[in-house]
Amino acid sequence: MVDKKETPSEKEKKMDVVPEAKLPKVDKPKAEPLTVSEPKAAPTSKARTAKKTGKKGTGRNIGIDVKSPEETCTDKDCPFHGTLPVRGQILEGQVVSDKMQKTAVVKRNYMRKNQKYERYEKRSNKYVVHNPPCLGIKAGDNVKIMECRPLSKLVSFVIIEKM
Ligand SMILES: [Zn+2]
Repeated sequence: MVDKKETPSEKEKKMDVVPEAKLPKVDKPKAEPLTVSEPKAAPTSKARTAKKTGKKGTGRNIGIDVKSPEETCTDKDCPFHGTLPVRGQILEGQVVSDKMQKTAVVKRNYMRKNQKYERYEKRSNKYVVHNPPCLGIKAGDNVKIMECRPLSKLVSFVIIEKM
């Protein structure tokens, strides 16, 4: 046992100089790189989960890198605290009306190229979107909206972040 304990310590010193050359020859150095490699793999996985949980906040992870709301709500159609799945397009716009209950109007400005004159024209769309109460959205806020299942005739987007 004493000889075995001494030999790896000597090999450790040699390992630093020539790491891979002596690995296949002796059994004990093989165990050392394994122990080294495991901690390397573990922190990365922990860091990834930590990032996800950090962005989660109060709500569940909706699969997108967005700040979760600090407040909670009981809205069943909230992507964070309810059961509403989100998928599809992610758009950005400005809230022009928040007077409806749990619904807002978001205006999105964009540029469209005119092929004939090779110039851009301003265009805009208005989206009637679901407004979860936990986000505290007011008129004038710039928000990120994401597509969801149709919640009503006009509503098939939901606000997921206040920017
Ligand atoms: Zn909510």
